[in-house]
Amino acid sequence: MTLPAITARLHAACESAGRAPGEVTLIAVSKMQPPERVEAVLAAGHRAFGENRVQEAQGKWPAWKDAHAGVDLHLLGPLQSNKVRAAVRLFDAIHSVDGLKLAARIADIAQQEGRAPKVFVQVNTGEEPQKAGLAPGAVDEAVRGMRAMDLPVAGLMCIPPADEAPALHFALLAKMAARNGLTGLSMGMSADFEQAVAFGATHVRVGSAIFGARP
Ligand SMILES: *Cc1c(COP(=O)(O)O)cnc(C)c1O
Repeated sequence: MTLPAITARLHAACESAGRAPGEVTLIAVSKMQPPERVEAVLAAGHRAFGENRVQEAQGKWPAWKDAHAGVDLHLLGPLQSNKVRAAVRLFDAIHSVDGLKLAARIADIAQQEGRAPKVFVQVNTGEEPQKAGLAPGAVDEAVRGMRAMDLPVAGLMCIPPADEAPALHFALLAKMAARNGLTGLSMGMSADFEQAVAFGATHVRVGSAIFGARP
């Protein structure tokens, strides 16, 4: 478990960017990790975690939430419409909202459940055919539509193409967020979270650098 080292690197990145450490949430991505690794990070007092799949999260997090007050749980992976209710009940933020249809369903169920997770709009900044997310050209209209639904749109999220310099994608996402008046930027993973902080990330999603490689 290298949480203290990663936290130190995050704080150093904030300092070099002239930002306060409190501006950036470190989401510890616990998907597929052995439970004892996650428990060690919880025991260290860390509370923001990320998961990729609703079903996997449902199997582990209710008990951990009962045992540790203040857990802040983020859904990072694709959300199918039949899992929206479970997601709204379990998660505090959903980073993978990639269309108005999904957004409308979240808004509807949030209303019924009396619990609205924060929403990040996922943008396919590299326009990769196999990747989830809205095309950059569709973002402004989608954000307008979601705001009209009374959804708490917190910001934008991206996963840059593996074979490109992430900085270009971070800069593009930051620009799109700014022109939509959005302050949240979910970007940066184990390999590039410090760069993401330099480009304004408010949420970095770090898995293997904290927990070790996923088995
Ligand atoms: C798995 C995952 C991460 C964390 O990846 P690492 O390389 O282990 O830091 C971040 N974001 C998303 C969307 C993921 O699926």
